[in-house]
Amino acid sequence: MAGSCLAVRAQLEALVDGEVSERTARLLRTHLTQCPECRAHYAAAASLPGRLRTLGSPEPPPALLAATLREVGRERAGALQIWGLFAAEVALVLIAAWYLSGLSGLLELAGHTAGDVGGWLSWFGGQAAVPAPVADDLFLLLICGLLVLVTLCHLVLLSRRGSAHTS
Ligand SMILES: [Zn+2]
Repeated sequence: MAGSCLAVRAQLEALVDGEVSERTARLLRTHLTQCPECRAHYAAAASLPGRLRTLGSPEPPPALLAATLREVGRERAGALQIWGLFAAEVALVLIAAWYLSGLSGLLELAGHTAGDVGGWLSWFGGQAAVPAPVADDLFLLLICGLLVLVTLCHLVLLSRRGSAHTS
């Protein structure tokens, strides 16, 4: 009986899946009506956890790993680009601050700017004449232009990254 039980248990999965012939199915069912041990094995084979255990996990497609690694690499490169631009912006601000003699120069510039804005506001209000043109400083203008350019590149990169993440 033990030998036939082993043969029956080896075919229980196929019986549950309906993959045995009509004749074999009849023989297996006949055995199951007489053998409680094999009936217990059949119940386990037919249960959902048992069915899931026999399925195993599917092999991932070979392209999946490569695509995942490529995507991670692209994100790293994007982060490097963004932080690189941030470093360029900081460097340009530092150059501008150095050119303006540090904090005191920046405060002086802020004071001049406030004076200019005040002059323009009183001109708009009709209380004063057109303010004199601001003394031009080509180096500072160049630094500010570069800063605006780098910042625009930075914003474009960030917006692309944002839209890539949301889509
Ligand atoms: Zn049996």
